[in-house]
Amino acid sequence: MKITVLGTGYLGATHAASMAELGYEVLGVDVDPAKVDALSRGELPFHEPGLAELLREHVGSGRLRFTTSYEEAGAFGDVHFVGVGTPQRPGAFAADMRFVDAAVGSIAAAATKDCVIAGKSTVPVGSARRLADIARASARPGVDVQLVWNPEFLREGFAVADTLRPDRMVLGLDGADGARAEAVMRRVYARQLESGVPLIVTDYETAELVKVAANAFLATKISFINALSELTEVVGGDIRTLADAIGLDERIGRKFLNAGVGFGGGCLPKDIRALRARAAELGVEQSVRFLAEVDDVNTRRRGATVQAVTEMLGGSVVGKQVAVLGAAFKPDSDDVRDSPALDIAARLHSIGAEVAVYDPKANANAAKRYPRLDYVDSLEAAVTGAEVVVLLTEWAEFKAMTPAQLEPLVAVPQILDGRNVLDPQQWEAGGFTYRALGRRALP
Ligand code: NAD
Repeated sequence: MKITVLGTGYLGATHAASMAELGYEVLGVDVDPAKVDALSRGELPFHEPGLAELLREHVGSGRLRFTTSYEEAGAFGDVHFVGVGTPQRPGAFAADMRFVDAAVGSIAAAATKDCVIAGKSTVPVGSARRLADIARASARPGVDVQLVWNPEFLREGFAVADTLRPDRMVLGLDGADGARAEAVMRRVYARQLESGVPLIVTDYETAELVKVAANAFLATKISFINALSELTEVVGGDIRTLADAIGLDERIGRKFLNAGVGFGGGCLPKDIRALRARAAELGVEQSVRFLAEVDDVNTRRRGATVQAVTEMLGGSVVGKQVAVLGAAFKPDSDDVRDSPALDIAARLHSIGAEVAVYDPKANANAAKRYPRLDYVDSLEAAVTGAEVVVLLTEWAEFKAMTPAQLEPLVAVPQILDGRNVLDPQQWEAGGFTYRALGRRALP
């Protein structure tokens, strides 16, 4: 069985290399020639732990290739995975489906043999049925093209492991017509299924909704604890202790209860907005209206962080040296899409602070988005002369730093822990003024 992966970004490149790792011959397809050139040389154009090694190995062996040609892909693949982007539409909340529509239409038209198109991109409910129509209408006479929806749940930073050993797989089928496609997909994922990964086979609509529902739930959990942190800030409580205590309840669970600067990235923010937009189109806007508040709580955390920094600097940031640690939306990633860290850095700069940003992997991407910030190459360079240090992405390097390491370098020993990952007592004992979102300052 030969596999193509359409779109070779975070999802697609990971999926392509992982399919090669499973033993398949794989062809990755992208409309971006620079990306295809880099991948063809075995060079990963972004940071994802473990992926560069997998890419090099399988490009080297010839099992994994890349192209910009849909003609080549149409002749090659028995299964075509679709992993192109579905960003927020400019000026709206809805998902921009142009890339998925184009990819499905192009591959269906180019296919010269019976094949399955497996949609992995995150799409508004109702898309798969529409795309199946596009695929059927575009297919050549005598070529059977079936579409399944197979949403992707990988987490950046753990993308390879999540692809090879997912918690579960979901397959949305076109009713009884999906039997051939289901059999093909069971063969593709045979190794994972044999190792016990649960497979949920359902209809298109449920499969599409599983993905957005999962992301909406995770976003809600983060905003829940962040909303509570607005309360603990006022009454003088400690949000981390509160999260630990409620998290011990198995019905709640501790994961995704980390208060701080909030969520970001290329998925959660745009996915909850797209769900709201789709619900409105379907006339059930009120069903997910709470997601507006989830989004607002999340955005308010960014403002609250800027406010806290301002207070720590005596009421004005103008001309003050601020060390920002982190630009990526999460550690172990260089992804700065809708990153709270970078947004906060940019906001501080826009109101007059002198901002030095250091991220172990995301400086280059951040500089493309906000070229006017000062990007430096090390933690030490960032904190030298700082009047406040602001930890915004919880990289291991930042979690491991100590007051003794920073104290000789900073101008004023004070730190804002935007991710609630440092030990307040350690920093206070080390002579720092420590402040964290949702957590009282020690007396
Ligand atoms: P990305 O922007 O990194 O990659 C998208 C790629 O698609 C780009 O390389 C782009 O050039 C390419 N592309 C656009 N149009 C194309 C076309 N017609 N044919 C071939 N290639 C085309 O995006 P991503 O983060 O990989 O996300 C892709 C999809 O996966 C989105 O729907 C996203 O919501 C979903 N998803 C992402 C993640 C994640 O963690 N990144 C996890 C689960 C699901």
